Amino acid sequence: MKLIIKLHESKLSISKCPEATKNPKVNAKNKQHAIEEYEYGKPQVKGELCENCKAWNTKIVEKCVDDGEGLGFCEMHDFMCMGKKWCNTWAGQKKSKD
Ligand code: SF4
Repeated sequence: MKLIIKLHESKLSISKCPEATKNPKVNAKNKQHAIEEYEYGKPQVKGELCENCKAWNTKIVEKCVDDGEGLGFCEMHDFMCMGKKWCNTWAGQKKSKD
């Protein structure tokens, strides 16, 4: 019974969209924080991009945003970031696309 309840709770949390995907002000605030504190958006040349970072999640954007082409949800800084950008807390190369 506990297992069923835990699975149910897990599905509920997966089905929720992060506030930043629904509230542009929250997204902008979190993005600005990433710019100021982690150099989000500065050019870099090492192939470390949001789109190959472990914190990048496109499934959230697909589910929660109508027009999210080129975007992923940064699970580390809670905002929608551009795949071709980067920040200095890049979390390492992810193994698959998601
Ligand atoms: S943590 Fe990763 S996905 Fe998030 S802004 Fe930095 S490089 Fe992009």
